[in-house]
Amino acid sequence: MTLGLPKLATTLLGTQAADILGRRAFRSDVRVVALHDVPDARRLDELLRHLGRHYRVLRQSEVLGAVAGSAGTDRPAVWLTFDDGHPSVFEVALPLLQEHGMTATAFVCPSVIGTCEPLWFQLVLGCAAEGLDWTWRDHRLDLDVDAVIRGLKGLPDDQRRQECDQLADHAARHGCPAIELRQATLSQLRGWTDAGNTIGNHSWDHPLLSRCDDRSVEHQLRTTDAWLREHGVWSGSFAYPDGAWNPVAEGLLTDLGVSTALGFDHSTVRRRSNPLRLSRLMLDADADLHRARAITSGWHSRVFGAVRRQSSDRTMP
Ligand SMILES: [Zn+2]
Repeated sequence: MTLGLPKLATTLLGTQAADILGRRAFRSDVRVVALHDVPDARRLDELLRHLGRHYRVLRQSEVLGAVAGSAGTDRPAVWLTFDDGHPSVFEVALPLLQEHGMTATAFVCPSVIGTCEPLWFQLVLGCAAEGLDWTWRDHRLDLDVDAVIRGLKGLPDDQRRQECDQLADHAARHGCPAIELRQATLSQLRGWTDAGNTIGNHSWDHPLLSRCDDRSVEHQLRTTDAWLREHGVWSGSFAYPDGAWNPVAEGLLTDLGVSTALGFDHSTVRRRSNPLRLSRLMLDADADLHRARAITSGWHSRVFGAVRRQSSDRTMP
């Protein structure tokens, strides 16, 4: 069996020796880890055990201090975050976090909480997984879903919505089950915060804010902020959907009292960074320990992060 070069490099960067070196070399950087759903409890358990042994896992309330450099540097600091509010975060990750004595922040889109409606990219991925016969600009959905999603992300947001509505209509006409997806409920969010975890704003329904007009940006942020406050789960944190930074959004966040805003640019956070432009490391919750070590140590983002950022909207100024 041959390994691709990036995979081989990741394996080398994730050895125990490289892990020790990386934790030492980048000790003062804060690692904000961006996870999504939790398909494999055993793998997440392994990750949390590793973090518990070698890192200081922060509560959200400790993040500003750690970034400012006021906290101790005996062990590198980590902030765990989960995006998009998958039910598995509340059903699988929550008991594991409690077992390890850790907390995390879940970034949610209130438009789908308590519903069976997929977010737009979940609809696209679900239809592709179901093998729905649909072609978008020469890309067959079932053969190249990545190209379809990339293309949709490049459109102005109102146009992207029209295309997704057409896909949803097409899927409904063909009885495709992907038009329904079980989402987290408000009581799950409450159970999460009751256990000491926090909930953050991830926009109302997950558009790329860099593709929205100013009015839509304001609507996305304000409606979510109001919803989180109304339901008693507001915590003053925000994660840009897909890491797409937007200057109007940043101005509004300050108005809304948000103190930490996160990108998705696969980088560690240097001390004294702007708390409204914090980088995050991209990690799958079911990654094996080699890959997890390569990423949390800081090596992976240094070797591959620049390449990834070049090919997307994920660079923050
Ligand atoms: Zn997201």
